[in-house]
Amino acid sequence: MSEPITASQQSIAFIGAGNMASSIIGGLIDNGWAKDSITATARSEETRNSVSHRFGIQVTDDNHQAVEQSDIVVLCVKPQVMKTVLLDLAPTLQETKPLLISVAAGIDLASLQKWGGSGLPIVRSMPNTPSLLRSGASGLFANELVNESQRSITDTIFKAVGIVLWVQDEARIDTVIAISGSGPAYYFLFMEAMTEMGVKLGLDQETAKQLTLQTALGAAKMAVYSDVDAKELRRRVTSPGGTTEQAIKTFQAGGLEQLVEQAMKAASDRAAEMT
Ligand code: NAD
Repeated sequence: MSEPITASQQSIAFIGAGNMASSIIGGLIDNGWAKDSITATARSEETRNSVSHRFGIQVTDDNHQAVEQSDIVVLCVKPQVMKTVLLDLAPTLQETKPLLISVAAGIDLASLQKWGGSGLPIVRSMPNTPSLLRSGASGLFANELVNESQRSITDTIFKAVGIVLWVQDEARIDTVIAISGSGPAYYFLFMEAMTEMGVKLGLDQETAKQLTLQTALGAAKMAVYSDVDAKELRRRVTSPGGTTEQAIKTFQAGGLEQLVEQAMKAASDRAAEMT
């Protein structure tokens, strides 16, 4: 899935060293990114010590210092502190003009540009939680100042934690949020319901859970690795008059497709409202 980094090793700074930053840093190092080209910043000494110990990279509490020495700056702070962090960093960003990558949900390019200052190449990204296990799906959008080589290095960075898809229009990031951003929770909900019903139908909790989870994993693997699409896979496992057909008919009679449509529209509308 990920490819080794063979291009010239660029220096990269992570502003904020929490869950998402740690996932990406771990992926980069496993893919051969030089540890001494990676810096992470965090306010708490405990986080800095833990990241330094875990990855052997440089750590600091000085965001300016990290930016000054880096070609790429990945903003990994929570959305609610992004404005303060960027307004503070703006003078340094204006001096060095690095490639700026934001992973913050709900912060659009216009805001990043307004706070960080004009003339910066910026990528807005939307990774998802499975990135923590290197099985993520990230949607990316770049402003017009991002050149081909910066696009390619951004691709490499996010491929370290999963698959990468670029969207052509920033508003489509809201669609990415409705599919892959919020999507893990849709599957979790389905898993919860299946496990619960397994118990109601007579299995113990652990057996119902294991059967549910392994089935989700197996179905996802089949859908990912098969030559045919999910619809055809479903057709192939649905024998006329059989058990699966009964279940599928019940889902369809209950309006599952329409419900998915409404749920994803609600997620996408909410994402648009939040930016
Ligand atoms: P987190 O709380 O684990 O990490 C945030 C880090 O930022 C913390 O280490 C905190 O100490 C640090 N920080 C706060 N203020 C700072 C400052 N002024 N300077 C430097 N560091 C500072 O959060 P997370 O889950 O890693 O999320 C980070 C970003 O990633 C968020 O914007 C979130 O929207 C985005 N994101 C996360 C996920 C996910 O699955 N975790 C998915 C998609 C997007």
